[in-house]
Amino acid sequence: MDCIFCKILNGDIPSKKVFENDNFIAILDAFPANEGHTLVIPKKHFTNIFEIDEETLKEGYSIARNVANSIRKSLNIENINILQNNGALAGQTVNHFHIHIIPRLENDTVTMKSIPVTIDSKKMEQIALSIKDNM
Ligand code: 5GP
Ligand code: ZN
Repeated sequence: MDCIFCKILNGDIPSKKVFENDNFIAILDAFPANEGHTLVIPKKHFTNIFEIDEETLKEGYSIARNVANSIRKSLNIENINILQNNGALAGQTVNHFHIHIIPRLENDTVTMKSIPVTIDSKKMEQIALSIKDNM
């Protein structure tokens, strides 16, 4: 499979590893948004959050918090985004599930800004009901 993260996991592409266990690695992002930007990656290939099993997902977020704590201590950073992209429109460029841990600094260049869309309350109610019915 032509997957950059599988190649990293196989050792075909080098990486800066900060953590490894039976199920996950955490590596520095090669094109970091800020110093310490880390990716938590399951060893098994799942495309996105809809494919990954519950147990592995939970472990991934537990590791993400540990990495974030480690970044706090090692880089003395208190502001951190933990995020995860699913699908090209959501910014996913590597189709192997991964969690970003992004340290945030004063006046950095990281953005995910939006202009709020206007939705009337009837439509909001329909949306809420529709999501609720599919839970
Ligand atoms: P996505 O956009 O899919 O949420 O995130 C993919 C991330 O993988 C990007 O932040 C990108 O910088 C990172 N990345 C892409 N290629 C490599 C690579 O070869 N090595 C590492 N360590 N990170 C990579
Ligand atoms: Zn993969």
